[in-house]
Amino acid sequence: VPGWGDKFFKASDDGHILVAPQGEGGPTLDLYALTEQLTVAGLRAPLLFRFLPIVGHRIAKLNAAFSAAIERFEYQGTYNGVFPVKANHDKSLIDAVLEYGTPHQFGLEVGSKAELVMVMARLAGTGRRGVNLVCNGFKDAEYMELVLHCRELGMNAMVVMEQYSELDLLLSAARRLGVRPSIGIRAKLTTRHAGHWGSTSGDKAKFGLRAREIVGAVNTLAEEGMLDCLNLLHFHVGSQITNIRMVKEVMREASFLYAELVQMGATMRFIDCGGGLAVDYDGSFTDSHASMSYTLQHYANDVVSAVQEVCIQRSIPPPTIITESGRALASHASVLVFDVLNTPECLHEKRVEQEEVVESIEIRDDKPLTKQLRAAARSGKGKFLLMTFKEVYDNITADAFALREAYNDASYFKDEGVRAFKLGVLSLEERAQVDMMFDAACERIREVAREADLPLPDALRPDAVPHTKMYHVNLSVFRSAVDSWAIQQLFPIVPIHRLEEEPTVAATLADLTCDSDGKVDRFINPRGGDPLPALPLHPLRNGEKYYLALFLTGVYQEVMGSIHNMFGSLNTVVVREARGQAGDAALVVEPAAVQGCEPAPCADAPAHPMADDASSASSASLAALEGGMEADSAFTATHAPADGAAAAAATAAVHD
Ligand code: PLP
Repeated sequence: VPGWGDKFFKASDDGHILVAPQGEGGPTLDLYALTEQLTVAGLRAPLLFRFLPIVGHRIAKLNAAFSAAIERFEYQGTYNGVFPVKANHDKSLIDAVLEYGTPHQFGLEVGSKAELVMVMARLAGTGRRGVNLVCNGFKDAEYMELVLHCRELGMNAMVVMEQYSELDLLLSAARRLGVRPSIGIRAKLTTRHAGHWGSTSGDKAKFGLRAREIVGAVNTLAEEGMLDCLNLLHFHVGSQITNIRMVKEVMREASFLYAELVQMGATMRFIDCGGGLAVDYDGSFTDSHASMSYTLQHYANDVVSAVQEVCIQRSIPPPTIITESGRALASHASVLVFDVLNTPECLHEKRVEQEEVVESIEIRDDKPLTKQLRAAARSGKGKFLLMTFKEVYDNITADAFALREAYNDASYFKDEGVRAFKLGVLSLEERAQVDMMFDAACERIREVAREADLPLPDALRPDAVPHTKMYHVNLSVFRSAVDSWAIQQLFPIVPIHRLEEEPTVAATLADLTCDSDGKVDRFINPRGGDPLPALPLHPLRNGEKYYLALFLTGVYQEVMGSIHNMFGSLNTVVVREARGQAGDAALVVEPAAVQGCEPAPCADAPAHPMADDASSASSASLAALEGGMEADSAFTATHAPADGAAAAAATAAVHD
């Protein structure tokens, strides 16, 4: 947790996950206690928590890193980031970006006409003027006109030419409306990033202009007397850049390109470096796909110094630097809490009564037997298989070598049981008993190892493949963690309670869809190596909920998640800051009941099949949470009932 948690998450002494939405030193929320309380209030898991102050914290951190770099390299320009709306369209999140971003002149990036319309409405609502709005994506005439209207509304909307043909569309829209546009050019850089998103860059990239097209566009603008409208150079080499060397190389190529555009007469003002700033999903701080081997400060330093160097070399004014970080700003903000429903192998959890099993077994003498089995049977050991198991079981002693031996014997006799079944010697019931004996022997080995503090045989270690158990979890991978299926992305998954207890079960997770791909069987390796095949979890306890959380899901998962098998909205809980009169910011927990963003084709998207009916959940939760739930430093243990204003805020959140 300390590796990937970025100080927003940690484990408490009593084994619960604590969340510090305002960062280290701020008040903490006990995720398990909060989940239990919300459950009592009628909001059942799976619960999507949105910790909005985390977004604020990440925006502040990114800006602080750029300010430090600007100071260090005595850069004369500024930094103004934009948030790519496609990373997460949720209204509360976008509002949080705008609110926390205001002191830093943070803007937005859109990648489609729909996103543009949404953002126009949000920005018009804030009354903020001069906000940078970078308009990317495929464009038609209507898109161009909308961008020009944004300029009339006081936004600094810049339309980025992603294809050469867009220039004509833009110029005719500008003529029609009589508005001078602010134009950007997206360059296809030759530097390619090696990770999963590498195809975003290079000659075969989907978007961007190649060198000759850039020159053609500049010439056309010059002919139209519009070179003063060309203000921005944009590039994006792909998401999750794990190695800083890539940033250095890309920045060098792009900075020279920027300088060339200035020297060709364009009134350049912005260099937009796109996204790519990575997230350390496994906390290993390495080059693995799930990690990153650089800090936010390294990133800012390399971006600023590369631009600075070229500006000095070519004696050109320093541009405003824009980045379009999505992943790095919002991933930490969403946490999905879900429960384990059962494990198909739940019989194994029962304590096996050895004597009972031995007493009940019968080996029928009328069946053909293998040589070994026949000999055993002839020698009067009808129940030889289970008796042998019992011997193995009884002889498990506190010695590392003996434990290994016992495990090997138990595995051998288990295989013998399968062989005997195939020969028709064992009935199905008897075979089941063999399985139970095997499990009992393994359990005994674990017990003895634990008591004597001895190493477990490799195959019995919690992360060993042969002993993984499947836990059915109340979740759809396709709805809530689609990248784990689509691109084998790894996310941290952790129990949110019982962390003071040793996890003794090696588990894989199976979701509730009827799709065999709906599972998670690759888990982060905190050492940064190959993913682990199993997650160490705790045995389930009768009548007790067992909750896990999927972390770092704040970008792309919600917007890309599909309603495969009709798994729709999740119950959502928004944690935001409420400013007091003294300027202090208490945490307010608002059950919002239904996830804001719903890509379902019909208006009434189905709710998650295992969630309560959304509307009844919301009213139940609001009734039970009467007065709202306000968090302060004392919130860790209990949620103090707050005043009516918070209740009104909660109601507003539901009805908004
Ligand atoms: N900008 C553009 C044009 C993108 O395509 C993307 C996503 O791939 C981003 C920004 C955001 O990237 P990231 O989430 O890696 O910061």
